[in-house]
Amino acid sequence: MAKERRMPIESGCPDGFQYMHPTMLRNFGQWKYHTHPRVGVLCHVAESGDEIWTVRAGTQRILDVFTLRTLCDIGDKYADGHVRFTIRSNIEFMVDDESKVDPLIEALEAAGFVVGGTQNSVAFISHTQGWLHCDIPGTDASGVVKAMMDELVHEFKNAEMPNRVHITTSCCQINCGGQGDIAINIQHTKPPKINHSLVANVCERPAVVARCPVAAIRPAMVDGKPTLEVDEKKCICCGACYPPCPPMQINDPEHSKLAIWVGGNHSNARSKPSFQKLVAAGIPNNPPRWPEATRIVKKILSAYKEDARDWERINDWIDRIGWPRFFELTELPFTKFHIDNWRGSRKSLNASSYMRF
Ligand code: SF4
Ligand code: SF4
Repeated sequence: MAKERRMPIESGCPDGFQYMHPTMLRNFGQWKYHTHPRVGVLCHVAESGDEIWTVRAGTQRILDVFTLRTLCDIGDKYADGHVRFTIRSNIEFMVDDESKVDPLIEALEAAGFVVGGTQNSVAFISHTQGWLHCDIPGTDASGVVKAMMDELVHEFKNAEMPNRVHITTSCCQINCGGQGDIAINIQHTKPPKINHSLVANVCERPAVVARCPVAAIRPAMVDGKPTLEVDEKKCICCGACYPPCPPMQINDPEHSKLAIWVGGNHSNARSKPSFQKLVAAGIPNNPPRWPEATRIVKKILSAYKEDARDWERINDWIDRIGWPRFFELTELPFTKFHIDNWRGSRKSLNASSYMRF
């Protein structure tokens, strides 16, 4: 073994302290309380008596250089030259004086940005990367977000919901995208179509076979070439075979649909964290405005807004009223596909690290 151990090369994100507003740096870990003077604005008060005002505006997440420069110019001119991004693609400007808040909001709105997304509003929808960065999306999550937020802008600017609402989208069925009060996710409805002439050139077949959660893929020979075959009775159309093997074509303009799930909650502030549950499936993946999915999300939100008690998140509300009442209030059809009675995983779920052939 070498005497001197080579130090790791740090290539992660840089130390955030160097970019922090001086008031935040001075009072790090010493915050006493915060208030919510208006939607999109938070005021944090430190033990020392210092105050910091945060103004939040939505952005499109995938930012072009022109927009970034516009936002940074606003930050230099109207804020104190410090910004940060939230996990939901909002930009936040920090100022240490209340008198700077209104001019900052005016400048943001004049440049076309929407201020809001705090407290019990519909926060900015979080989305995955879609066509721009990823190689497996079945829809453009960013497009779904844009189309929906255009229709939900009132709920972003006003805190009229019983509690905060976090909506998420995901552009494939297996990877990122997350737990949300409402989640709009891709749903494949047909097994992959295999392009046999490409498999031998493109895919590592053992890796693809091992990837299938229900062991539905087997090696095969077609026209004298090594390829794969899928047992369509077992396949659950998850799309997990497509990333390591693009010839397993699962994305389809007609059969890749959207599904809506509700009630996911990471927080355990008032009740236990909960998993989201499927409430609408087979919704057309219909760019550029996704009207069918947007209509359902709006229906769920309006039923929640009308019927939930103060501070109930969507999962708390459903726990109180029960699923039958949820389906009545939202007028969504309840079908046999909502009943999770699949027991296949007990026999076939590929939960070991061994490859199977
Ligand atoms: S959700 Fe899937 S397709 Fe979308 S960015 Fe994540 S891994 Fe890629
Ligand atoms: S990985 Fe998913 S989509 Fe591919 S064959 Fe297996 S179950 Fe079907």
